[in-house]
Amino acid sequence: MARYIFITGGVVSSLGKGLASAALGALLQARGFSVRLRKLDPYLNVDPGTMSPFEHGEVFVTDDGAETDLDLGHYERFTGVPARKTDSVSSGRIYTNVLEKERRGDYLGKTIQVIPHVTDEIKDWLSIGEDEVDFMLCEIGGTVGDIEGLPFFEAIRQYAQDKPRGQCIFMHLTLLPWIKASGELKTKPTQHSVKELRSIGIAPDILVCRSEGPIPQKEREKLALFCNVRPDSVIAAQDLSSIYDAPLAYHREGLDQAVLDAFQITPAPRPNLEKWDDVSERIHNPEGEVNVAIVGKYTQLEDAYKSIAEALTHGGMANRVKVKVSWVDAELFDREDAAPYLENYDAILVPGGFGERGTEGKIKAAQFAREHNVPYLGICLGMQMAVIEAARNVAGVSKAGSEEFDHEAGEKRFEPVVYHLKEWVQGNQKVNRSVADDKGGTMRLGAYDAVLTEGSKVAEVYGTTTIDERHRHRYEVDIKYRKPLEEAGICFSGMSPDGRLPEIVEWPDHPWFIGVQFHPELKSKPFDPHPLFKDFVRAAKEVSRLV
Ligand code: GLN
Repeated sequence: MARYIFITGGVVSSLGKGLASAALGALLQARGFSVRLRKLDPYLNVDPGTMSPFEHGEVFVTDDGAETDLDLGHYERFTGVPARKTDSVSSGRIYTNVLEKERRGDYLGKTIQVIPHVTDEIKDWLSIGEDEVDFMLCEIGGTVGDIEGLPFFEAIRQYAQDKPRGQCIFMHLTLLPWIKASGELKTKPTQHSVKELRSIGIAPDILVCRSEGPIPQKEREKLALFCNVRPDSVIAAQDLSSIYDAPLAYHREGLDQAVLDAFQITPAPRPNLEKWDDVSERIHNPEGEVNVAIVGKYTQLEDAYKSIAEALTHGGMANRVKVKVSWVDAELFDREDAAPYLENYDAILVPGGFGERGTEGKIKAAQFAREHNVPYLGICLGMQMAVIEAARNVAGVSKAGSEEFDHEAGEKRFEPVVYHLKEWVQGNQKVNRSVADDKGGTMRLGAYDAVLTEGSKVAEVYGTTTIDERHRHRYEVDIKYRKPLEEAGICFSGMSPDGRLPEIVEWPDHPWFIGVQFHPELKSKPFDPHPLFKDFVRAAKEVSRLV
């Protein structure tokens, strides 16, 4: 049965709990253990699928079609373990389950309460798959003391009590602020945070303390004494220049050893960190730089395109270059010439997105890339924009557009080259949708197979003609435009296995122009860069050498 590590946070949010959890997962793997990482989010949304990327950052999609928190992306990137639907849960999901059971009469007339009904629902969820791995790492979103987080904290407290002694530990992440005026690192906020945690019955076994610099021995001992942890379980988490240094940095600080000690696992298996040494070496020793423009809408918040930024970094590592990303707001050139905004980049990426705002600019970005032989990667909406561009400017469909924009505007203005998909096949099941459906969880979601055309650019890039990739979209390129578009020169080089849904388009006579209906960025890892990103950055590197 799995050992559980519960990861909580205190003092302030955004301390990098997700990253710490992911790095710890990687370190346990390096010692030969199997791991699974999970996220418990206290908010009331059923899942982040309907939340704005401005509020919540990117929505990370799993193979089995769940729309989850972006921390699951970190987990996958660090451990390579594909996340599942059951690795992410919110208060909204838990309460929905409880209320559905109540309506069905499953509780046999009982009064439904937070304890035990909500906490039991959380504990049932925690135990899913407990026999499958050595360690289950469960991160609780938010910070201790948040009202909405209380049922989760209570549930993990109970869970540790229900299990045999020594099967669950608690790791608490806090901040040690540096007070410049007095030149001191302050431990008081951490003491308060641990006090808060202990008041709800949870005593941390390990403290991970974010700080700008090292923690002097004196402060370490003080923290240990006042927070009732062992001095060697006070782990410093200093700011790092790359997130991919985290596993090695945490190892040097003794985090994995402290965890194994807390579980009394002796002798501790020796870690093999070669993979992370290599990752770190590549990150810190680039031999050049390429400049990539990401032309999108959510450019103010980098987290909105988290996986894309990471996948580009991975592509850079594979090519030994640093990828410098510039976030370019597509709306800037909705109505004017795109060239002044785009001409200084080695490659252009148009990412996924929703709604009409900025789309004319994205279409112009695709046109600029096509006409100027600049490498172009269009992802999801970025692929749809490339197809609309081809239809308007090459195939002569002057009113080409997406039904998405007409639906939003409530009037018909475009010829729908991209249309709302109403029926498709998932596995061996038919899925039906209508425009009036709920917004949450109703897109084409999760992993789908695609078949690539032999001899195409993408087949060469992937090194195979059958792939599966993750989807998250409601609209599709209409197959009935395949013929006129191919006559215009763009090639539909990847299709769904039944041949009905265009998955990939490319311009064969362009150095590198590929649009994909799926999200390849979700599967890229620092130690296993996604082939599309690897080759996209290679193409950008070639351009950067030419200029
Ligand atoms: N808005 C588009 C659709 O729903 C694209 C979605 C995306 O880019 N993820 O089809």
